[in-house]
Amino acid sequence: MSQGATPEGAGSASLTTVEAYQKAILSAINPLAPVSLELADAEGCVLAEDVTAAVALPSFDNSSMDGYAVRAADVASASQESPATLRVTGEIAAGDIGAHRLAPGTVIRILTGAQVPVGADAVVPVEWTDGGVAEVAIHRSADEGNAIRHVGGDATEGETLLTAGTRLRPMHIAVAASAGRKAVRVRPRPRVVVLSTGDELTEPGTPLVPGRIWDSNSYMIAAAAREAGAVAFRRSGVPDDPAGVLPALEEQLARADLLVTTGGVSMGGEHDVVKAALRELGTVNFMKVAMQPGMPQGFGVIGGGGGTEVPIFTLPGNPVSAYVSFQLFVRPAIAALQGADDLSLPATTATLTNPVRSPSGRRSYLRAVLDGTRVTPLSGQQSHQIASLGRANALILVPEWETQLPAGETVDVLVLP
Ligand code: AMP
Ligand code: MG
Repeated sequence: MSQGATPEGAGSASLTTVEAYQKAILSAINPLAPVSLELADAEGCVLAEDVTAAVALPSFDNSSMDGYAVRAADVASASQESPATLRVTGEIAAGDIGAHRLAPGTVIRILTGAQVPVGADAVVPVEWTDGGVAEVAIHRSADEGNAIRHVGGDATEGETLLTAGTRLRPMHIAVAASAGRKAVRVRPRPRVVVLSTGDELTEPGTPLVPGRIWDSNSYMIAAAAREAGAVAFRRSGVPDDPAGVLPALEEQLARADLLVTTGGVSMGGEHDVVKAALRELGTVNFMKVAMQPGMPQGFGVIGGGGGTEVPIFTLPGNPVSAYVSFQLFVRPAIAALQGADDLSLPATTATLTNPVRSPSGRRSYLRAVLDGTRVTPLSGQQSHQIASLGRANALILVPEWETQLPAGETVDVLVLP
């Protein structure tokens, strides 16, 4: 993951840009191997093959209405004043596989989805009749083909209905089922293991003593990973013990396609245990990205040596930094693990309702409320201020070269999931 990503320590003039860092990450991610999954498990996965129709859709002529199968010629002169009265010789319901045949001058009652009998060329909806059982009075003529869904009217046999690369949403699952598929080859939902680090972390639901905080990052990042389509596992409160970090990570390798840690990567020397532990390995790069919040970042791989190498993100510990970093860097990586690139946050532009400030040389991502074409920055932009994150639905981007923008300015905005 070297190209474009400048290691830290090269001075603030050489902070890595957000785009260079994103690019370096994506170029280092290999898509997961395709697997065959039953349809019930395939939603959210990304197709690794085309899906074609096993048969024409529909595969037989069938009725689109409840009514009567007729020969159009037999009702050609039917009208309100002089209905055509015809004998009803039977009934065909949906699922009936009998070989029904319509004799001229008669009708067969037919239900929606039922096979049109041989000899019939139209269906008269029950609303155009008196609904008769033994015989029926039909008071409107019907064109040939009326209320008939013809073979192949939806898709022809062998037609490609879904293409490789499609992220399977509920309608695609229906298409695959309608195409006759029991299982599909897909790149599965990546398994993301989230580990929060810090001696100060306490599980929510247990009492807090002064000096401690409730762990929010592990819940937040696991939830964000799930929202992005991953299967997420949580391992909370890895202590700030340099000797314990690597074993805690290695313990997770067997169930992880991606590891995400929070905390322990800033400038605190020996207290930054994640950085200290992973630096030893030499397979994770730590750098400063020209952004706020979220400047200290780390990305690389761990594992290998017999097992598979698993990509790892080390996100900063402040909750807002961790959140923004996840959305900018981890989210696209989850897509890349599925061979997809559809998970970047939706971008738009809007008019600032209030002025904003930003540090020189770094791009700010300010929590904000987007309302149509207007965007309002929230107060409380420090990276520990989780309360204002909870009020945000968007991030305002302030470019690296701007230190302030006035109200009325048009700004780039990312819409939060
Ligand atoms: P660190 O990156 O470990 O230096 O942490 C930076 C700040 O984020 C500190 O104030 C930590 O207490 C806080 N922090 C770290 N991990 C978490 C977490 N899992 N939940 C909430 N806050 C955290
Ligand atoms: Mg810490």
